[in-house]
Amino acid sequence: MSEVRETIAAFKARLPKDVTLVAVSKKVDALRIAEAIAAGQVCFGENYVQEAATKWPALKAQHPHTKLHLIGHLQSNKAEAAVKLFNRIDTVDSEKLARTLAAAMQKTGRHIPVLLEVNIGREVQKSGVLPEHASALLQTARAAGLEVQGLMCIPPDGENPEPYFKELKQMTQDLKLPVCSMGMSADFEMAIACGASEVRLGTALFGRRV
Ligand SMILES: *Cc1c(COP(=O)(O)O)cnc(C)c1O
Repeated sequence: MSEVRETIAAFKARLPKDVTLVAVSKKVDALRIAEAIAAGQVCFGENYVQEAATKWPALKAQHPHTKLHLIGHLQSNKAEAAVKLFNRIDTVDSEKLARTLAAAMQKTGRHIPVLLEVNIGREVQKSGVLPEHASALLQTARAAGLEVQGLMCIPPDGENPEPYFKELKQMTQDLKLPVCSMGMSADFEMAIACGASEVRLGTALFGRRV
């Protein structure tokens, strides 16, 4: 077995059964993504619409059961391309983007679910809706016709993520949403302990990005 296959198999055995593993394949070439698929990996995350558009149409044609999530910031002018390419948009963070995505789904006839990205550390440089505005954004997104499945966050760098993970989990429960996407290679165990329903792993599965 190749290294990617072994690593994926090991993670699948190690993670709790009710936690979804999203394999983050940004900067990973199609050959190695195909190895991950061969190891049974179904869900993948990509950060950039353009990069995903170069790799995924061919992978999807060969492996139509795979699920592709957009986990990077989405600009409104790429909403239609994103709706055509991805199975879920995990980074809805404004009313404008929610409305633009809803319109793109109407236009294309392709209706995909979304997550709301929460700026859990209230960092000025980060995207995401502020925690206190998440409930209002949820209402707007639903009113526009979007199916909101849950929340996602990236806690501040270099801090203990635990309080942030706990806060996102609490918000997910308060809003009665099923999906709580949190935890990356460095902190996924803590995220799972705090109640993550999905973790997003890149480096741990594919090695350091160059
Ligand atoms: C890159 C990225 C990940 C994966 O990060 P690793 O540390 O490589 O596991 C997860 N989530 C988001 C939003 C990312 O941009």
